[in-house]
Amino acid sequence: MKRILLLACAVVVFIGCQRPATNTTSLMPEGIAFLSREDWGAKAPVLPMRAHRLTRLTLHHTATTQLPDRSLEDKLRALQKFSQEDSPLADGRMKPAWADIPYHLYVDVHGAVGEGRDIHYAGDSNTSYDPAGHLLVVVEGNFEEEELTPAQMKTLERLVPALTKRYSIPADSIAAHKDFAQTSCPGTRLYNEIPRLQQLVAKQRTP
Ligand SMILES: [Zn+2]
Repeated sequence: MKRILLLACAVVVFIGCQRPATNTTSLMPEGIAFLSREDWGAKAPVLPMRAHRLTRLTLHHTATTQLPDRSLEDKLRALQKFSQEDSPLADGRMKPAWADIPYHLYVDVHGAVGEGRDIHYAGDSNTSYDPAGHLLVVVEGNFEEEELTPAQMKTLERLVPALTKRYSIPADSIAAHKDFAQTSCPGTRLYNEIPRLQQLVAKQRTP
């Protein structure tokens, strides 16, 4: 009997190891509109990617003007095209082709979320920090100049606690791109929301 039990445990462990990666859709809190890669017609990554273990959540802005009339599908397809090619940056430098969208999740102006790069692989950056271990969430807008929409705030208030809980990311490991690299990203207005998001996460963890 003992041997059978041991064998059963071994089978469970084996199946556990073979289980496919977490489906990002299952990470979404109820009520948040979500577009999976399949939904927006993502292309496959064009280069190999680095598997990583998530230890922090890092916020970015797109640094582009919010476009309420353009569909999220369209924005994600354009961002993937830009990402997967050698493309010029706003400051005149060229970026090399990346495997895929550099961020894992995209929060659009209406608060809907789009799936970017597979969450199990490290992102990419134009700046000098290593994004391995960072769950990268980008929010649509230029938050040096624009405000977050109420819908974006509402989504962040639910999405950030859900993601940090799922990956056991501590509240003080929620940060901004500019905490790691020479950049103004994610803009002052989004940066100023981070302490509140940290408090929200800390409060939800308190029994
Ligand atoms: Zn950034």
